[in-house]
Formats: sequence, structure tokens, C-alpha cells
Amino acid sequence: MKILNELKCSFPSVSSNEALARAALSAFLIPADPTAQELADLRTVISEAVTNAIVHGYRGTCGEISLCLRMLPERVIYIRVTDHGCGIADIDKAMEPLYTSAPEEDRAGLGFAIMQTFTDSLHVRSAAGQGTTLTMRRKLGSGDAEE
Ligand code: ATP
Ligand code: MG
Repeated sequence: MKILNELKCSFPSVSSNEALARAALSAFLIPADPTAQELADLRTVISEAVTNAIVHGYRGTCGEISLCLRMLPERVIYIRVTDHGCGIADIDKAMEPLYTSAPEEDRAGLGFAIMQTFTDSLHVRSAAGQGTTLTMRRKLGSGDAEE
């Protein structure tokens, strides 16, 4: 598919970079003039994905997180987040709402459910010991609606 615009970057898995990822996404979306709701949704989505890479993928260690943002035709925004951490052995189980492998940290197990709610598609590629790649797409509205 034709890529109209693209941003690729990578950063270490420290929690302050959750804000960096949100800011990068916000800046990338400016030309598309998303609604406040679309922007809030997608900032939440990228936060959940990057947080998972930090707290689960690289649990207790530090590694590289790669981010790829694309603007595709028909106002489809593509978000890819990759880590090379511990990976997910059972993806179906991990994606069940309320499932968390870290209940002792008061995690709700809702990150994947939130990402699914706020995107049109979510694909997870992962293998134990090899890391995880999340690929998400969301079509923005027409862009000419008055708010
Ligand atoms: P919450 O997001 O509500 O704080 P959570 O992170 O546990 O809690 P999800 O984001 O839905 O919930 O993730 C579910 C589970 O999937 C996690 O508990 C973890 O076991 C696994 N997981 C998610 N992302 C990764 C990742 N990048 N690497 C390894 N495991 C992951
Ligand atoms: Mg999570």
C-alpha cells in the first residue's frame, strides 16, 4: 500500500519514553487534523503498547523499542511498536480482557482490550524469547467535521 508519510524512531525502554511516544504520535498527526477524540484515543493506544514493551517485554532490563508511524491512503493511521524482549508464549491468553501476568503490580489486564477498542485492527506477532511486534490501524474521520 502507498505510504503517504512515515516516521521511524527507536528509544530505550525507560518509562519517560511513554510520553515521548505520545508526543511523536501527536506531532505526526497534526497534518491530518484529527478530532480531539481521535487524538486522545490514539495517544492512549500508543501509551498502552509502549508501556507493555517496557514493563513486560523488558521487565527489569532495558532494551530498544522501535516505533513506526505511517499515514496511509484514505486517512488510515498505521502504528507499529516492536520490542526484542521476552515475547508472549500464549497470545490468545494475553489478549483476554482482565488477564495479566503482573497482578501483584495492580495491573488490570486491560491494555490489549483498550488497544482493540480504539483501533480498527490490531495484530500481534510474538514468540517467547524473541520479542513482540504490535501492528494497529485506525481510519480517521473525514477531517472536515466542525467541532
Ligand atoms: P494493564 O495494561 O491493564 O496495565 P497488563 O499490561 O497486564 O495490564 P495487557 O496490556 O492487556 O495487560 O497485557 C496482557 C498481558 O500480555 C501482560 O500481562 C503480559 O503478560 C503480556 N504482554 C503484553 N505485552 C507484552 C510484551 N510487549 N512483551 C511480553 N509480554 C507482553
Ligand atoms: Mg498493559
